[in-house]
Parts: sequence; structure tokens; C-alpha cells
Amino acid sequence: MKKNSLKEDRMGEERIEYGSTIIEFNLEFAKRKSLGIKVYPDKTVKVIAPLDTDLDNIKQKVKTKAAWIIRQQDFFLSFHPITPPRKFVSGETHRYLGKQYRLKLCEAQKEGVKLHAGNISVYCKDKNNKPRIENLLKAWFKDKAEQHFNKLFLELIPLAKTFYEGMPILKYRWMDKRWGSCDKNGTIHLNLELIKAPKKCIEYVIIHELCHLAHLNHSAAFYQLLDRLSPNWRSIKDELERLMV
Ligand SMILES: [Zn+2]
Repeated sequence: MKKNSLKEDRMGEERIEYGSTIIEFNLEFAKRKSLGIKVYPDKTVKVIAPLDTDLDNIKQKVKTKAAWIIRQQDFFLSFHPITPPRKFVSGETHRYLGKQYRLKLCEAQKEGVKLHAGNISVYCKDKNNKPRIENLLKAWFKDKAEQHFNKLFLELIPLAKTFYEGMPILKYRWMDKRWGSCDKNGTIHLNLELIKAPKKCIEYVIIHELCHLAHLNHSAAFYQLLDRLSPNWRSIKDELERLMV
């Protein structure tokens, strides 16, 4: 039997039990020396083992990495905005700082967005010009995000004083798959979508990213720091996920 056909025969879904958790993983074999594990944003796990490794041996090794795998899955789950696409029609609800507002479209020569009495009113020359309405709203959200993110960021930076000497930099942009990110140069990016979430959720994401100034991974040490700076982060994270559906 050729190695290639052996590989095909043995490729597929496997699982291990870790406490009360079952971890399923896709197993592949490749010419390599050690076992590789990848966790994807959709929470799937891929294990790549050296050719001819015994399955029990592989499962044993995956078990020793189980806590790490669960941490990675947990992280991806919490940073996955799943807001359905909006149609930009009157009456549709849009969130701003966690509260729901009804979209009201008004025809006017002077274009802009105003918030009042439970409505987000968009003034636009042509009520049927959906791309224009979307752009006006996005510009308004971005403007509000800029104000709130900067204020919260400045308030929270002192939390990082004990473990980060430099001055972290805040940037923001629209992102599809993440609430925030932090790079090794101390630049923190926040997803502009966060302006739709309650203030405490924005604070939580900022604190999460500040913790990355000390630990760029999601190691146990990272979570220890996060627990210390934001003891209720789990319930806040749950709220963020629930609200942003
Ligand atoms: Zn993170």
C-alpha cells in the first residue's frame, strides 16, 4: 500500500472526551515530524499528524492540548459579529450603544442623521437611494464611534500601566470577523460595529485588547490578567453575543 492511499483511508473525523466536553477534530496525515493543531474561526479543529502515527497516540496528544483548544474556540466565538444585513427601510431597528432605535427616512435637501425619541432619522434627498442612506448612517456611526471609543480608551489605558510602558495607539475600522485586535507594536484596532453595543461591551473589548499588550496570545496568563482587570468579562461577553445577533 502506498503512503498516499494509506493517508486517504485514515483521513476523517475523530473525537476525544475532555472532562464533560467532546472535542471533534478533522485528522490528516502529512510528512512532518510533530503533531500540528489548528483551530479555525468556525470552531472546527484540524489535527495534522506525522504519517503512520497510531490513532491512540494522536488522541492522547490532542487530549494534552484540550484546554488550549477550548480556549481558542472560546476566543473565536466571542469575536464573531453576526449581525444580519440591514435593508435600510423605514421601521427597521438599528442599535446604537446597546439601545434599539427605529429607522425613519425623511426626504430633505440638507442630508444628515439625527437621534431623537427612539428614532434614528436619516434625512436624504432621495428616500429610495439605499446606498446613500447606508453611507449616511455609516458616517454617523463612525463619527459617534470616534468620540466614544477615544473617550473610553483614554479612561481605560491606566489599567495597562503596570504591564505596558509605551503608549498604546487606538485605531478603528469596519471588520467582518473580529471585535478588535492588538499587534506587537501596541496598536489596538476596534471594530466600528462596536458602537452598536452597550458601553460596557466596548469597555470589555478594549480591556481584552489591552491585555494583549502583555500577552499576544490567549494563554492562561492572558486570561488571568483579563480576570483581574475585568472580573465580569464572561457575562459581558455573553451579552455582546446575544445583543449583536
Ligand atoms: Zn484576543
